[in-house]
Amino acid sequence: MAFESGIEFARKLDSEDPMRGFRDRFHFPEGPGGSDAIYLCGNSLGLQPKSVASYVNAELEDWAKFGVEGHFHGRNPWYSYHEMFSDQFAHIVGAKPHEVVVMNSLTTNLHLMMVSFYRPTMHRYKILIEASAFPSDQYAVASQAAFHGYDPDDAILEIGPREGRDTISHEDIEEFLEAHGSEIALVLIGGVNYYTGQAFDMKRIAKAGHDAGCIVGFDLAHAAGNLRLSLHDDDVDFACWCSYKYLNSGPGGVSGAYVHERFAQDPDLPRFAGWWGNDPETRFEMGPKFHPHFGAAGWQLSNAPVLAMAALKASTDIFMEATMPALRQKSVKATEYLLWLIDELPDGQYKVITPRNPDERGGQLSIKALGDGPALFDALTKAGVICDYRKPDVIRIAVAPLYNSYEDLWKFAQILGEAA
Ligand SMILES: *Cc1c(COP(=O)(O)O)cnc(C)c1O
Repeated sequence: MAFESGIEFARKLDSEDPMRGFRDRFHFPEGPGGSDAIYLCGNSLGLQPKSVASYVNAELEDWAKFGVEGHFHGRNPWYSYHEMFSDQFAHIVGAKPHEVVVMNSLTTNLHLMMVSFYRPTMHRYKILIEASAFPSDQYAVASQAAFHGYDPDDAILEIGPREGRDTISHEDIEEFLEAHGSEIALVLIGGVNYYTGQAFDMKRIAKAGHDAGCIVGFDLAHAAGNLRLSLHDDDVDFACWCSYKYLNSGPGGVSGAYVHERFAQDPDLPRFAGWWGNDPETRFEMGPKFHPHFGAAGWQLSNAPVLAMAALKASTDIFMEATMPALRQKSVKATEYLLWLIDELPDGQYKVITPRNPDERGGQLSIKALGDGPALFDALTKAGVICDYRKPDVIRIAVAPLYNSYEDLWKFAQILGEAA
């Protein structure tokens, strides 16, 4: 695609953008002089849809009006509140509705999934993760290994980029699994690496893992609402994601989980159970024996945190309106444009460490400052850019196709050029 460098071109792209109507439906933090901030941090905390207040208010009103009866008489009965997300999450992650559930928070769900899917045996007890995985994931896998009596230094394997590279080659993952797969119980990779923005080919990794006899799960914190996913068709065993990044559910928003349908009714799979994971037909019989709900819903523990879920619903309704294919289409184009703008800057100032192939990234570009990293971040902040900075020299820029404009990206690139 041929881009041009002026602001008029950015405005032209905005005027032709099928997603342009969505921007006004979000609250923007204030930037310098009262204008909207240039918000490029949707990979950390998505912006608040303006509709969140009315969604949350509806539940507050029903609580005031009905008290406990809101579980059955509310406009969106709380008893089945989580079920409203089945079709939506199925669309967002490419799964069947009974393969997904909304519950808990991300790290909690990782642990719950590992209870079921990390089943170490004497000769097969290792977990393979990507090098520089998000710290919470590293702690989670290490503590799971330790919980089963293994030394994490021995049980946790990491695969990283080759010397001199920033991202991990899929061939290397495949070769590693061929060589060491027989020791590996679980492969757990980020769908998109939070640091480099590299998107992994889940189908390929699932196949390589399965060929080696491993269970394969993904952490989709940076992939859900960002990439087009097809977890079921890719044959992924399980996955979890948070909803406050690209999915805009607000701080600490409720997480999602996916479990492939081949496990929907597997009675041999151990799990940590709670009453909300019980079959709803018998849930209120309050019997002593747990009868798991069919599918991913059987992993729920507690009744739904409705106020947090109401905020999420405001956002997922917008996603359903926009649809993932259209969002991804804009994301690819806008990210390509941003990459082009950065390439136009004088050499020697910045290096983008995210893959240049659009199939290997989502809406994030990780930019390494070749000069003074902290000074750059200061300058960006002063100029009204809100983005994420990882010491000492990497800034992570997220393009959120629902609310970022091409003009945002143009302005950011200007500021980046001046800050070098
Ligand atoms: C954001 C993120 C988390 C955060 O975990 P919470 O339990 O939601 O606090 C964990 N893992 C990855 C890969 C993340 O990107």
